[in-house]
Amino acid sequence: MSEATLSQVDPEIASLIKKETQLQHDRVRLIPSENYASRAVLEATGSVLSNKYSEGYPGKRYYEGQQYIDEVESLAISRIKKLFGVDHANVQCYSGSPANFAVYFAYCKPGDSVMGMALPSGGHLTHGWGVSVTGAFFKAHQYGVRKSDQRIDFDEVAKLAREHKPKLLWCGATAYPRLIDYAKFAEIAREVGAILVADIAHISGLIAAGAHPSPVGKAEIITSTTHKTLRGPRGGMILCDDKHKAAIDKAVFPGLQGGPHNGTTAAIAVAAHEASTDAFKKYGHAIVQNAKALAETLLSRDFTLVTGGTENHLILADLTNKNVSGKIAAKALDRAGLVCNYNSVPFDPRKPFDPSGIRLGTPAVTSRGMGAAEMKVIGNCMADVVEHPGDDALIERTAGQLRELCDKFPAPGIQL
Ligand SMILES: *Cc1c(COP(=O)(O)O)cnc(C)c1O
Repeated sequence: MSEATLSQVDPEIASLIKKETQLQHDRVRLIPSENYASRAVLEATGSVLSNKYSEGYPGKRYYEGQQYIDEVESLAISRIKKLFGVDHANVQCYSGSPANFAVYFAYCKPGDSVMGMALPSGGHLTHGWGVSVTGAFFKAHQYGVRKSDQRIDFDEVAKLAREHKPKLLWCGATAYPRLIDYAKFAEIAREVGAILVADIAHISGLIAAGAHPSPVGKAEIITSTTHKTLRGPRGGMILCDDKHKAAIDKAVFPGLQGGPHNGTTAAIAVAAHEASTDAFKKYGHAIVQNAKALAETLLSRDFTLVTGGTENHLILADLTNKNVSGKIAAKALDRAGLVCNYNSVPFDPRKPFDPSGIRLGTPAVTSRGMGAAEMKVIGNCMADVVEHPGDDALIERTAGQLRELCDKFPAPGIQL
């Protein structure tokens, strides 16, 4: 007897998933935190493993029947440890933000001093920004970028750290187009007795591929999502030295979470396996090359790029000289088949809900196999639309052209 399929049981949801699948195929996806997980990763994510409760860790569970779940989680842990070269990995975090919360819970009491990069400079909400629980429950001091070159202001980092002696010093960003100098952060953390936490949510795939310097050996604790450049399922993880293992594991469970999402754990193991291949190394380096190629095209079209360019997977464009707001540009670009997000730029005079910039990234297009030639086409299409956001005919034409481009580059995990 075979059971009813999703489209038989719930045609409404099935149809929405089908439409989203088509949309993800048809569009040039330039959101730097997004990607296309492989069919193998999606299969593991949506498996019967999610039926099982497994509070605890391999060999120390609070439920029986863990014969295979223990093996799955142990595999995920050992593969991630090998991939990044770390002593310990906790792969149970529900996502990137909960991974960060667990680090706070492991080492801080409410009201303790912590330090991270300010959101308007490219930092993440969970690094102590006011509207986040991390800004509300802790005394968060925020560093930023220099006005002159929009790079991290290490003089300010050192000054604030000496003044406030934070328990945790966070580095890593969500909208910063340059390499992170982990050695410099480590030196400051050591001087003031802070634990350096590197949040590599965006760049963990680049680091695994050797396309961005690794914080291992410099930051005692590393947190990450698993679904951005790493191209795994939606999840989070914490990597650390042996001396932090017990505190981190205890903070994740029972501190912050209940049962782990075992389908996700299995898919993290699959993603780590994929990330250990030569093909993944090539992909990681191609992401950076594509970002540079896209940046070059935009610069040739008189775009203003924050820091003047990129060294990683993302680009922040300040559209002030194009006389269009980030939001209007992003909406016009979306209609033209180019999906990105509007974003504040450092020292933005405009409000976050309608800022001056757009944020672009090349992980998803690189996963489709696009290269320098396609980045040139995409960059020129972007420039045309940004310069004429109200030209419906141009937008129509561009959308058609880009749909044809997308047809030539089937995306991983997408079955039409
Ligand atoms: C995306 C991101 C996170 C949060 O991840 P979620 O899975 O969205 O909770 C944390 N830190 C940084 C730097 C990020 O870019």
